[in-house]
Amino acid sequence: MTLESIDRALTSGQRLTREQAVHLFREAPLEWLRERADARRRALHGDAAFYNRNIHFEPTNKCVYACRFCAFARRPDQTESDGAWDHSFDDLGALLDRYPPGTLTEVHITGGVHPDRGVEYGEALCRFVRSRRPEVHIKAFTAVEISFFARKSGLNLEQTLERLRDAGLDSLPGGGAEIFAPEVRRKIAGGKAPAHQWLDIHEAAHRLGLKSNATMLYGHVESHEDRVDHMERLRELQDRTRGFMSFIPLRYRNENNALSHLPEVPPDEDFRTFAVARLFLDNIPHLKAYWVMLGVSQACQALHWGVDDLDGTVDDSTKIYSMAGAEEKIPALSSTRLQEIILAQGRNPVERNSLYRPV
Ligand code: SF4
Repeated sequence: MTLESIDRALTSGQRLTREQAVHLFREAPLEWLRERADARRRALHGDAAFYNRNIHFEPTNKCVYACRFCAFARRPDQTESDGAWDHSFDDLGALLDRYPPGTLTEVHITGGVHPDRGVEYGEALCRFVRSRRPEVHIKAFTAVEISFFARKSGLNLEQTLERLRDAGLDSLPGGGAEIFAPEVRRKIAGGKAPAHQWLDIHEAAHRLGLKSNATMLYGHVESHEDRVDHMERLRELQDRTRGFMSFIPLRYRNENNALSHLPEVPPDEDFRTFAVARLFLDNIPHLKAYWVMLGVSQACQALHWGVDDLDGTVDDSTKIYSMAGAEEKIPALSSTRLQEIILAQGRNPVERNSLYRPV
């Protein structure tokens, strides 16, 4: 296999094979990759770089699981003095009240897997947001949370999703995917929803008309083959459903967790991962650099490596990555600031809604 043969495949519109993608991870010069990923991005989206006005709500960080990469979770029996929290609906109401109508288009809700909460809790949460802010898009619950809701409430996955949808859920975030390769998933994510279940939940959501997103946690103990395997499973599912809107590579951050002995990957490896993802995932339209995790400066650079989306304003409403060592200890960007940093990269800022329609 040579770069020339991969280049010919890309130029003629052929889909990259698993072997070709691994070869790109291992052998492609960075500038070679950047040029091709950037060209693919430009062909898909022109100069547009998307962002939205969103907040996160993390109802609790008490969790029945103990993923080794996670700095966010606390055991269900831990208390505030241990850094645990369990927000009430009033807390959520107070958060929503901070935003006058027209200043917010999305609420992103994910958190720990609380042992006492089934689908009834998820429904009540969606209904609460819907009653307070009927105009706002509710993107909520990772597949891991949904899997637990189903088990706790004695429902199948489709019934669980249907009930959440009927209560106001609009789409699914991409969390909980981590890495699908079973051996690595077992090492880093213990007993939580296996890969096939994560994929089943997203497939069922797509069948029910709910769009979703997909993440990949990289830069810990996985191999390049594992990353390509992960993306290939997503690509296969997307061929069937067309329900994924964006792919979001998430770099492993190494503070305050059980894998802290592992070094973080250097920025070049982030850029390489974004570029290979843009070339390999020919059927997922958007590639997102989540600035909260990557840092603003690096997320801006990622716009030249196939990325067309920076996520949103966030407004200091998430703790998941700041607790794990991300640079952004107070993650908040105004719309104006997001526009400025996108313009500084020579791109056209486009505010989008959660379904990627321009606002
Ligand atoms: S990653 Fe999610 S499921 Fe795993 S311990 Fe953290 S909060 Fe719980």
